[in-house]
Amino acid sequence: MKVVLVGGGVVGLCCAREIARQGGEVTLVERDRCGGATSLRNAGQIVPSLCTPLSSPGVIKRALGWMLKLGSPLSLRVSLDPDYLLWLLHFALNSSEEKYRECLKAALVLGKDTHLLFEELRKEGVEFEMHQKGILFATLSEEALHEETEVYRELERAGYDGAYEVLSGEEARRLEPALSEKVVGGLFVKDERHIRPESFAKGLTADLRSRGVQILEGVEVYGFRHGQKGSWRVLTSEGDLDADRVLLAAGVWSRELLAELGVKIPLEAGKGYSVTSMGKGTRPQRPLKFTEAQVVATPYDSGVRVSGMFELSGINLSLKRRKIESIIRAAAPYLRDWEPMKPRLEWTGLRPATHDSIPLIGKVPGLNNFYLATGHGMLGVTHAPATARMLAPLVLEDRPVPELEPFKLERFVGKGK
Ligand SMILES: Cc1cc2nc3c(=O)[nH]c(=O)nc-3n(C[C@H](O)[C@H](O)[C@H](O)COP(=O)(O)OP(=O)(O)OC[C@H]3O[C@@H](n4cnc5c(N)ncnc54)[C@H](O)[C@@H]3O)c2cc1C
Repeated sequence: MKVVLVGGGVVGLCCAREIARQGGEVTLVERDRCGGATSLRNAGQIVPSLCTPLSSPGVIKRALGWMLKLGSPLSLRVSLDPDYLLWLLHFALNSSEEKYRECLKAALVLGKDTHLLFEELRKEGVEFEMHQKGILFATLSEEALHEETEVYRELERAGYDGAYEVLSGEEARRLEPALSEKVVGGLFVKDERHIRPESFAKGLTADLRSRGVQILEGVEVYGFRHGQKGSWRVLTSEGDLDADRVLLAAGVWSRELLAELGVKIPLEAGKGYSVTSMGKGTRPQRPLKFTEAQVVATPYDSGVRVSGMFELSGINLSLKRRKIESIIRAAAPYLRDWEPMKPRLEWTGLRPATHDSIPLIGKVPGLNNFYLATGHGMLGVTHAPATARMLAPLVLEDRPVPELEPFKLERFVGKGK
């Protein structure tokens, strides 16, 4: 079974590995280099518990509150593009209690084996930097601590069974000496882990090569044509490729490629920024989330990465220096004295975001032997191995996978959404 997979981000790489592992003959086409887009310098937190949909009850009020602040973690572009306006409308409609719970449940199912799957990748020889140090939420107010605790109670009611602990400011500082005296409380989720994204893409690419997967880097896919008996011709900048099955995992760019086939999916780019530096001062020992600021810090073997922002700015990769500065400023009150120093790596990436925060994984309706895996938004690294594990049998054997039901494209495609 010849599978052509488009997109060498973390989702495409994991899917390529799983399909090859289950016997498929995979060619992966990546227009740049594998792991070079959104999967490059994200925060690398493997956090299945951070899966509450962005569109939650009260989100509009919270979003307005954020946007009125200087250095808001959220920003929207002004545009009359009907697809964008529909996306925003559905985002608002999805904030009902009922829809929120339904999406939360789906995300929990997708994330339930995440830590095991990362462990398995390592055991099977994929080399990458990984740590299991949990994640510590730090808050500057009792109110934010209370809200964060309520989120975890809600997660438990929805089936989450991971351990978490609510801490006073003192206890949080004992656990993480990098926190400042301004921190009044913390919530520690001890099972979560983190990886260095650059090393993950590199390790997966090396593993694919060792499995005989053909990797075409620097090759762009610009269209698809029907071949004989349900097969496909994939049109690339280096000539056509024949495929029994096509899997599109081109992140936020999947939307344009599918539109060429007459299929519309609600996908927007949620732009984020990160800055990585050795820094100076008391270095964080574990991943931290600065709750009110919506900024995270992730320590690696070399350097600490601070990241944040969610800008619905369309597909553009312009790196605004003031956004980087604003992330650094937002993190400062939570940290005792650590700050990033030059040289520092500044980066921006586009999260592929659906309006219900649930990815699109499955068969593309109306197209034979054509599959999609994208829309992982804030959690693409976390959910990539599980996506691959669930999707591979569908791609290779057309075997129905009940767990994929909530992620089916039918929830949007063909409904004018
Ligand atoms: C600031 C920030 C922090 C984040 N932190 C975390 C985190 O802590 N934990 C977490 O789980 N997630 C995190 N994410 C989200 C995560 O990075 C994304 O969900 C994930 O990287 C998406 O992976 P992908 O493979 O779908 O897309 P991408 O990595 O964007 O890959 C898509 C690939 O397709 C290729 N492509 C596109 N068009 C074509 C074409 N026509 N032909 C050939 N190739 C093509 C692109 O070049 C690209 O390499 C973060 C994101 C950001 C921006």
